[in-house]
Amino acid sequence: TKFSDLGLAETLLRALVHEGYETPTSIQAQAIPYLMQGRDLLGIAQTGTGKTAAFALPILNRLLEDRRRPAPFTTRALILAPTRELAAQIADSFRAYGQFMRPSVGVIVGGVSHRPQVEMLSRGLEVLVATPGRLLDHVASGRLKLAATQILVLDEADHMLDLGFILPIRQIVSKLPRERQTLLFSATMPKEIAGLAADMLHEPAEVSV
Ligand code: AMP
Repeated sequence: TKFSDLGLAETLLRALVHEGYETPTSIQAQAIPYLMQGRDLLGIAQTGTGKTAAFALPILNRLLEDRRRPAPFTTRALILAPTRELAAQIADSFRAYGQFMRPSVGVIVGGVSHRPQVEMLSRGLEVLVATPGRLLDHVASGRLKLAATQILVLDEADHMLDLGFILPIRQIVSKLPRERQTLLFSATMPKEIAGLAADMLHEPAEVSV
């Protein structure tokens, strides 16, 4: 498979050339076609497999279909990650793959002050990458509305389980519209994650590497 066979927009293919990516990794070749069809996805993959691009590229491609400015305090895509470091990396990946479309990308993590985050949310975002605890604070205080969010990604779900994030994740998911595209990535499938996947995903395609 070549990136150019996957139906991705020219502006994304150009960014991949710029990043020096020549061919899709296995998870990318498997997952991107399903995601381009709008399917939900259960991905069994570890870090280092290229899973970030596997979800970021189809999300960016979908965002290109409608570049109207998102309403204040909303995001079109929400990515949940277990740690600040991973959240920052994922956001950097969206910026790199989106370098020729310049999507609005925000990061919300704990341990930093609220006010700049609220300021950022007030502008409306296309992509928001967040850790669950702080995200839920903003949802609870009305500084983030999730009713218009079209795509949800849960990255490193097993790691989020280890950190005690299952309840906040379920609370966040309960605020999202039922009609959305949902992706869950996990390196392992403990029963709590299988249960979460069963509750969140609608007829998911499954890929593993
Ligand atoms: P990830 O598993 O998403 O953390 O990605 C692992 C590393 O592989 C990152 O440094 C990516 O920039 C790189 N990468 C992802 N996909 C490709 C690809 N198709 N070709 C070359 N490098 C890639």
